[in-house]
Amino acid sequence: ERKAALAASSGPGATSDGHKVPLLANVGGPADVPAAVEAGAEGVGLFRTEFLFLDDSKKAPSEEKQIESYRKVLEAFPEGRVVVRVLDAGADKPLDFLTPADEPNPALGVRGLRSLLDHPDVLRTQLTALAKAAEGLPVYLEVMAPMVADRTDAKAFADACREAGLRAKFGAMVEIPSAALRARAILQEVEFLSLGTNDLAQYAFAADRQVGAVSRLQDPWQPALLDLIAMSAEAARAEGKSCGVCGEAASDPLLACVLTGLGVTSLSMGAASIPYVRATLAKYTLAQCERAAAAARAADSAEEARVAAQAVLSGE
Ligand code: PEP
Ligand code: MG
Repeated sequence: ERKAALAASSGPGATSDGHKVPLLANVGGPADVPAAVEAGAEGVGLFRTEFLFLDDSKKAPSEEKQIESYRKVLEAFPEGRVVVRVLDAGADKPLDFLTPADEPNPALGVRGLRSLLDHPDVLRTQLTALAKAAEGLPVYLEVMAPMVADRTDAKAFADACREAGLRAKFGAMVEIPSAALRARAILQEVEFLSLGTNDLAQYAFAADRQVGAVSRLQDPWQPALLDLIAMSAEAARAEGKSCGVCGEAASDPLLACVLTGLGVTSLSMGAASIPYVRATLAKYTLAQCERAAAAARAADSAEEARVAAQAVLSGE
């Protein structure tokens, strides 16, 4: 039965009553593109460009090398959306030429956008390479920054994009609770939000995502995490802008329905999850997703939230 459901699953992501939720792929580079196309991804919701930089931690890849890699991904989705995240180095992904060597708490130190603002040359080269890679292609390019903490960060990133002559939408990832709390202010500077639920959970619960002993707190069904997601999605709706999810949360089919009910406007995940999420979302109406989301938020633990959402969707 599951096989049949998956075989029947194709086309754009939507609820059973036709509320569209684009299903996008997370990719690390051109090598991940065939699987994304095969799964019927409607574009890329998170291009993790740091993989290109991890080959050589001594220096950034040349502009030419970057253009080549970006262009291969952009070309694969003509008319589609491609959301590129600028380099997210530091913490679990240190780079010698960017990351300070002796930080006591690297996850709370100079990482993500912070290291790029400290090395404007690296950011400028990446943005210029992206502008050149997109030249002449019909693709709908969006560029976002990781680890945006506040409006000042969002403005600094948008200014850098404008200065590089990038013709694209600029966005901010919501990975730090302060960004969710002040999402409307951030949206005065950028055109879209994308929730990085892995880091958002890490920072909301003070639970290192690399430490298995605290994995209970990293569960994306945690009601407090759902509250932060709802807050961001509501802010985007109020500003008439979009708010996607590109963290692991989007790849859980049941949670994908809850995220849709919370007002999230697109879901990006590893390509292998797309058919499952598409098939599950197609079974429920938007109103059912909204009721499941409300039930999950009313719970007191991740486990209760999951059970409550499941109960609503199976009509118990
Ligand atoms: C996240 O933090 O949820 C995210 C999508 O970014 P990464 O997993 O690459 O840190
Ligand atoms: Mg992250």
